[in-house]
Amino acid sequence: MFYNAPMRLLTQIEKQRVCDLLTSLVGINSVVISPEQANHDRAEERMADFLNDHLHKMGMTVELREVYPGRPNLIAHWPGQGGNRSMMLESHMDTVSTEGMTVAPFAAQILNGRMYGRGTCDTKGSTAAFLTALAIAAESGQLPNDKLYYVGTVSEETGCLGAAELVKSGFRTEAAIVGEPTGCRVVTAHKGPLWMEIETRGKACHASVPDEGVNAIEMMSRIVAFVHGPWKEYLQGRRHPMLGASTMAVTMIDGGMMVNIIPASCKASLDGRLIPALSAKETVNDFQRMLAAYLGDDTDFVVTKIESNPPLDCPSDAPLTGRLLELCGRANGQNRPEGVHYFADSGAFYQAGIRTVLFGPGNIAQAHKADEYIEVNQLFQATEIILNLLTEHAGKPILCNAE
Ligand SMILES: [Zn+2]
Repeated sequence: MFYNAPMRLLTQIEKQRVCDLLTSLVGINSVVISPEQANHDRAEERMADFLNDHLHKMGMTVELREVYPGRPNLIAHWPGQGGNRSMMLESHMDTVSTEGMTVAPFAAQILNGRMYGRGTCDTKGSTAAFLTALAIAAESGQLPNDKLYYVGTVSEETGCLGAAELVKSGFRTEAAIVGEPTGCRVVTAHKGPLWMEIETRGKACHASVPDEGVNAIEMMSRIVAFVHGPWKEYLQGRRHPMLGASTMAVTMIDGGMMVNIIPASCKASLDGRLIPALSAKETVNDFQRMLAAYLGDDTDFVVTKIESNPPLDCPSDAPLTGRLLELCGRANGQNRPEGVHYFADSGAFYQAGIRTVLFGPGNIAQAHKADEYIEVNQLFQATEIILNLLTEHAGKPILCNAE
């Protein structure tokens, strides 16, 4: 019904506005390298304070919910906004380290149509686009009739801990757009990571009489062979139409004490990426059972650590997804849902029953890089897509009963 109309594009002043906002956001150091460093530095506090102030000025009610001291999730909405359906625009407030960067990390320098700096692409570009679109729509009285939230999370780069905490506290909306650099495409699927640590336990002895001991590295070599042999084959048995098969790789190994001692212990780390159809828990159970059968009785191994994050697999016919796809089609011709290899806060939301997609300006190839940048045209386009999503539904719901 709306879709034959040309898209409302940004004016020069509005383009300047989204660039200015991104410049301010990039200028705020919100680096998260490890939980210890981030807790010590209160990593996202200044971002949360800036956004709190900015969103208040937009007329939104803002709540800060501390996840760790000085590291709050931020939840904003317009008070009294009608509609019994709700959706959120979300982006994480933290960035990765600035170490080794070849551009000034916080200067937000614009050169040849690109803005350079840590977080320009991952994911302060999305934040700037979302907030500018929300502000323009609100100022012109063209908000949709759904309850609209903006949510900023902490600690995404170290395992999506802020998003996990948010859903654990009971926060829900019916739908969500998670801002990540998808190149202004709609991403509806990603895998869920599964990290395991395994230890083999043998018996030390002098290496000149190896048969008197039990070599833990030798045992581990059989586990490595299992992971890259039968286990790989097993994982390849199930495929997702957009994501292909699950994968697992041995990524770290550590064992032995001295050149002349048969090692009593060896540890290895495994990185798994599971398609949505495989649950982490069941996969770990299958892994242990199959590995034990492969090794026989004589090998003593133990899985010492398991961490996982949920995948994303949102149906592409959900109303918000459909509308976003249609708008992307008009803006850049990309009207098909996509799957990606990385994961984000989206997994936690999807697992909590929120219809979630990833969408934002910039290319994931530039995320975490030494010269991270965003094409400013991407920034404008993402802002236009979200602005049109809002204003084309002014006074009406974006979400409908089918949601
Ligand atoms: Zn990100």
